[in-house]
Amino acid sequence: MHLKKIRESLLKWYHQNRRDLPWRQTADPYAIWVSEIMLQQTQVTTVIPYFHKFLREFPDIFSLAGADLQRVLKIWEGMGYYARARNLHRASLEIVEHHQGNIPSSFEQLKNLPGTGEYIAAAVASIAFHKPHPVVDGNVKRVLSRLFLIDTPVNHGSAGKIFHQHALRFVDTQSEDHQGIFNQAIMELGALVCKPRNTDCPSCPVISYCQAFHQSVVDQFPKRVKKKKIPVYHVSAAVLRKNGRILITQRKPEGHLGGLWEFPGGKVRENETAEQACIREIKEEVNLDVAVDSFLTRIKHAYTHFKIVMDIFNCTFVSGYLKLNGPVDYRWVTVKQLDLYPFPGADRKFMHLIA
Ligand code: SF4
Repeated sequence: MHLKKIRESLLKWYHQNRRDLPWRQTADPYAIWVSEIMLQQTQVTTVIPYFHKFLREFPDIFSLAGADLQRVLKIWEGMGYYARARNLHRASLEIVEHHQGNIPSSFEQLKNLPGTGEYIAAAVASIAFHKPHPVVDGNVKRVLSRLFLIDTPVNHGSAGKIFHQHALRFVDTQSEDHQGIFNQAIMELGALVCKPRNTDCPSCPVISYCQAFHQSVVDQFPKRVKKKKIPVYHVSAAVLRKNGRILITQRKPEGHLGGLWEFPGGKVRENETAEQACIREIKEEVNLDVAVDSFLTRIKHAYTHFKIVMDIFNCTFVSGYLKLNGPVDYRWVTVKQLDLYPFPGADRKFMHLIA
């Protein structure tokens, strides 16, 4: 195996070709930790403005720990996977309470923070604290699977362990460049050259060691197991007005879109129209009787494990007193005030139509 040579070639290439990303211009473990949490499920180009905005609002761990969770969710709004924001906030409180406000440098302590699993712990320990932990994300799996013709499907349950074993072989504590730099180099190769499609092998610094290239099977790696078809749910929601104000409700703090605000509504049942579902859901969730005035719009939105088609109706209050069953809070707000609350991306898609 040419592990040492692969490592050297990759590091040399990285020093000449790396992108000048904002989290690479800092040695601050807090900023690096925030960036890694953001990058775990979001693309680099999307993360950049959020990273700047987040650090402007919460420049250090103390400002984040002292912030209201609603404010954190508001800054995060639009990036999705809101559990990350909630966990980041919880973790900041733990760091202030148990680590004197210092991001832990050990892999084990990092791993125990809310929302900081093995991948992020390895990334932060290696990049911010130069510890010898390999990281294995989708990019790294793709590069390794092609370099060594690893036929374990990258989306199989066993993949993390198997690819981690391969990545471990590259750890070199004697190298001038620490493991954090190597981790970024191999991820960068996956992002810029060894891409899922349009793989740019002629520009690859490790082409001479790549088994997939030499056997002309690059497009057959990495292997994947076929995923189940994603279900599509039909849902309805209401822009419910009373005395010139609109009702919004808050989801419970945990789970899917936890802590965010939304327009009341829910899934359309079989043998029910979207309009009927809207009236029924409002009765169930907030105990109000409403009338549907008009159809506002239909939007489509995709989450990781399902998609929704949402019909939105303009409704008016008819009768009843408000009692929550499901949501944990509610507000009657003006159109202008809607912007003060963190909403899911799906609701944001039609909010500009509300006058
Ligand atoms: S030669 Fe091509 S397939 Fe092999 S590692 Fe480089 S970019 Fe990826």
